Amino acid sequence: MSLISIVIPLFNEDESLTELLSRIKHSLEPTSYQFEIIFIDDGSTDKSLELIRQMATSDARVKLISFQRNHGKAAALNAGFKMARGDYVITMDADLQDDPEEIHGLISVLDEGWDMVSGWKQVRHDPIGKRWPSKLYNFTVSKLSGIPIHDFNCGLKAYTRKVVKNVELYGEMHRYIPVLAQQKGFSCTEKVVQHHARKYGESKYGIRRLFTGYLDLFTVLFLGRYMRKPMHFFGLAGMLLLVLGLGILGFLSVQWFQQYFFGTGQWINNRPIFFIGILLSIIGGQFISMGLLGELITSSLHKENPVIREDD
Ligand code: UDP
Ligand code: MG
Repeated sequence: MSLISIVIPLFNEDESLTELLSRIKHSLEPTSYQFEIIFIDDGSTDKSLELIRQMATSDARVKLISFQRNHGKAAALNAGFKMARGDYVITMDADLQDDPEEIHGLISVLDEGWDMVSGWKQVRHDPIGKRWPSKLYNFTVSKLSGIPIHDFNCGLKAYTRKVVKNVELYGEMHRYIPVLAQQKGFSCTEKVVQHHARKYGESKYGIRRLFTGYLDLFTVLFLGRYMRKPMHFFGLAGMLLLVLGLGILGFLSVQWFQQYFFGTGQWINNRPIFFIGILLSIIGGQFISMGLLGELITSSLHKENPVIREDD
């Protein structure tokens, strides 16, 4: 019998937890699946921890990880992924914005052969100030990463076991799990899911995440492509700049010699292009040494971790 692990990160969500647990049970108990529910208390300061402790004592399927302080959703998911024992792993938010009733549907998509499936909140019940920026954001992430899904940030996602055991989340990287999974060679699709307005408590994320989100996207794409060969990124840019800079300086030098010996060239001083030549040469040299530093770090990490194919 297949085991489903439901991983739920939460930060101060005490009002939702009882209803959440009973709805999960209600939706999964009639099925043939066994399940475990892993709550990750991300340093809550309300009654969340106390409530989950009670749930865990009365039901052995409820597991708890509790952080001493708030570390963010990515760290919470990461800890949950490490603990999960299921053949399938579902992540969902604790605030009842996602429907536990969707779990079956997501698993049936995995059974079609996908490695992960991401929920798509096609009709969102969030304030408009959050919906529009989010649309733009998802559009750019999809174009830049080449993954044709509409909603990267949806908390409701389903994974096969091998995906969660092979992606490492930190910082705010939970938004890029589809990208990280794709970089490891896993397939990702999406499924439309219901979304509800927040019933209790308040959102833990504001508009700021949009801006920092783009920086994180750059990191993810950069690391995915150049983690093992930083010199290919910095070195190439550096070489181009250096060649251009030295070319300009060489040309100016030839003219200087012509002027000095034959009076047919030009002096260098007071020519703006001279400074451009110097600038490009210095920046080019800097880029190359950054590439070398990158190689130094990478070579001491020996970190590629290819996913080894298993026979299913
Ligand atoms: N969350 C968390 N740690 C944090 C912030 C949020 O574990 O530092 C949890 C939160 O309790 C919820 C989920 O991540 O279960 C999604 O957060 P939220 O609902 O605030 O985000 P939104 O739905 O507004 O995007
Ligand atoms: Mg929410």
